[in-house]
Amino acid sequence: MIKDIFKSKPTVLSFEVFPPKKDDGLTNVLNTIDALTELKPDFISVTYGAGGSNSKKTLDVASYIQNSKNTDALCHMTCVGYTRSDLDSSLEEFDKSSLSNLLALRGDRPLTMSDEQFNSREFMYANEMVEYIRKKKGDSVTIGGACYPEKHPESASLEEDIVNLKRKAEAGLDFMTTQMCFDNELFYRYFDLLDRNGITIPVTCGIMPITKAGQLGRSVTLSGSSVPKKLSDLIALHGEDDAEMFEYGTKYAADQIRDLKSHGVRGIHIYAMNNAKTVKAILEQL
Ligand code: FAD
Repeated sequence: MIKDIFKSKPTVLSFEVFPPKKDDGLTNVLNTIDALTELKPDFISVTYGAGGSNSKKTLDVASYIQNSKNTDALCHMTCVGYTRSDLDSSLEEFDKSSLSNLLALRGDRPLTMSDEQFNSREFMYANEMVEYIRKKKGDSVTIGGACYPEKHPESASLEEDIVNLKRKAEAGLDFMTTQMCFDNELFYRYFDLLDRNGITIPVTCGIMPITKAGQLGRSVTLSGSSVPKKLSDLIALHGEDDAEMFEYGTKYAADQIRDLKSHGVRGIHIYAMNNAKTVKAILEQL
């Protein structure tokens, strides 16, 4: 289980993949996972919901990682996607597939969902889902949660966000993963703030490799993560040449990881975007 890996290793390495959007995309995703597991991560997380995936696809991909690749899988689950009874059924599937790690999230409103539907979800916030799962499953599962070094975009302030985060951690989190973070100094400051607020569970830093100038579009803007001048300069200089952008983008991510490790950060989570070549190029530089 992931919580045991955090107890036994100083730095935990993980990757994130998303399930196929269409049924015929499964083979490609499984091939990517084959390549990613060769890089020996401690666990691989599988997203839920975004991009039209559903819980079955998340569970199927997670089961492949756990049972065929002998690597811990972390299943994302969202309040937006699950009623209580959906969650109960998914947890049954989860047990049948010998899965034991999940990331409990609120989720964002999909473009196709009305405000009314979004606002009538049964679990309003991730802390409610964490509490429910912890009561139901006890210590037999690892539960992770999300956190935001620059605050969640909907929070009025970082302080308000930390109050909510503390409630979520106390509901039963074993660890947290940050939103993509391009500036390590922000992570270190955030880490100190968590410590001062008594949030002491391991925090793994989310690294999003930027290997194409176009990536700094919607998802980065929506994430609320700021882009340091060093990275925007690099994109301005190399963004029009694909090979150069790949080289400098993976180098930027590798430099970030090296620095994080030297500061004793408990985990590195690479948003792999189903691209094993990028992850391999980063790890080769370390
Ligand atoms: P919460 O912890 O519920 O917080 C959401 C907001 O509500 C915050 O502003 C918080 O301060 C506030 N809040 C929290 N609790 C309370 C409370 N009790 N009362 C009042 N306010 C409260 N999305 C997907 O759809 N699928 C995925 O697979 C996915 N994976 C992700 C993985 C990571 C590592 C991260 C960082 C994000 C991921 N997301 C995913 C996005 C995530 O669902 C969104 O960022 C979402 O807006 C917030 O989710 P959360 O679990 O952090 O929410």
